[in-house]
Amino acid sequence: MSFQSLGLDPHILQAIKEAGYTEPTPIQSAAIPVVIAGGDVIGIAQTGTGKTAAFTLPILTRLTAHPVPQGQRRRTRVLVLAPTRELVAQIEENVLAYARHLPLKIAKVYGGVGEKPQKDALRAGSDIVVACPGRLLDLMGQGCADFSQLEYLVLDEADRMLDMGFLPDIRRILQQLPKKRQTLMFSATLSKEIESLTHEFQRAPKIVQIGKRANPAETVTQLVYEVHKHLKMPLLSHLLEDDKLQMVLVFSRTKHGADKIAKKLEQTGVKCATLHANRSQNQRLRALDDFKTGKVRVLVATDIAARGIDVDGISHVVNFDFPHIVEDYVHRIGRTGRAHAIGDAISFVSPDEQDDVRKLERFINRGLVRKKAEGFNYNAAPQPMSDDRPERRNQRPFQQQQRRPQGQGGQGGGRGGQGGQGGERRDSRGPAARPNDSRRPSSNPPPSKPQSVVQTQAAERGLWKRLTGRA
Ligand code: AMP
Repeated sequence: MSFQSLGLDPHILQAIKEAGYTEPTPIQSAAIPVVIAGGDVIGIAQTGTGKTAAFTLPILTRLTAHPVPQGQRRRTRVLVLAPTRELVAQIEENVLAYARHLPLKIAKVYGGVGEKPQKDALRAGSDIVVACPGRLLDLMGQGCADFSQLEYLVLDEADRMLDMGFLPDIRRILQQLPKKRQTLMFSATLSKEIESLTHEFQRAPKIVQIGKRANPAETVTQLVYEVHKHLKMPLLSHLLEDDKLQMVLVFSRTKHGADKIAKKLEQTGVKCATLHANRSQNQRLRALDDFKTGKVRVLVATDIAARGIDVDGISHVVNFDFPHIVEDYVHRIGRTGRAHAIGDAISFVSPDEQDDVRKLERFINRGLVRKKAEGFNYNAAPQPMSDDRPERRNQRPFQQQQRRPQGQGGQGGGRGGQGGQGGERRDSRGPAARPNDSRRPSSNPPPSKPQSVVQTQAAERGLWKRLTGRA
């Protein structure tokens, strides 16, 4: 299928050509005709599948086909809601690129930066507004936005917005929008909550699901380096001696850990930046920009801050800490192997993280490849950093642990003493204004209740299947 056959406006086709796209991705082929025909859509797709263009291109085509009569005041016709500032900035960047030959004004709205320029942009009239729900609601309350003529609403990463507790804000925003509109919703998963959201906000939506491209497991080589915690930092430095690791995204479970890794890398002469919620909005945007433009080789990030970031050409993802949650693993490795690139995902796994790896392997129905780093001294004496927490559990060597029968790791396996992502800011109003992400393990987990292993495994396999399309 070609972009030409999808019925897109010629100015948009020109912009797509200039962006270097030669053919639509599966989500684009499926969603664009439905949106151009005026229908509501539920797109089940993760970032990395081309979903931004899947909703932007047909909306731009429709806006162009029905321009506002000359002389009429410019009012907002499109509202896109997204969960994080980074995602809002990224969507705006994409919309600007696709609309570069169209006379449209676009505004972005998110917390953590001054309100004035955003208020001015809204008051001056923008055809398209891309916004985080919290700040938008604040500005709507101050009478800055005019959505009386709104025609299109997009809820991007709807599942994340629900996870982050945005549902009440979304409801309040939607109460103030015209009922007669086209509503598009994108989500990585089709959960019961998402289904009830569509009943609330959409009319006879058509479900479109992504094809193969969304499955990072197929394009990403996934390796595990078994290493004791105190050797993770030296191992990272050792691997970075290889020039093949050109553009590296390192995941840390905590903000503090991310800072520590970055500091150590800088000390060894590796240029790096950090992306986490304790960084100001400007610092985060600069970090992303420096990474994209190659000013820094390594970006150290936490899960939430990195969610949805769109950086082409990431050569390697390193899980410095192995994620506790299957979904986080999928999102992390999805940062590489995007579009047409093939990427490597490397996980450092200490003895106390083995249970989490085995859990993941059970869901994907195959083992991850274990690798030894050539030329690395695995017997180096411990060099604990002053604030390293001891590995309190599972001090046995790797071989001994692996002999343990599967399934005995228990649900709490690998979670003790690590701390969580607690305090990660999700929106301008800070953690107090947002409910906690209930799926994230707390730093003080309650004693694990006996659970049906079969039931839990089945539920989590379902999650894996929904995320990747693989059984
Ligand atoms: P998204 O899923 O919207 O975050 O897009 C992921 C990446 O794919 C972005 O860098 C887009 O610029 C890129 N992209 C989107 N559509 C296409 C396409 N048809 N061909 C090649 N790259 C694309």
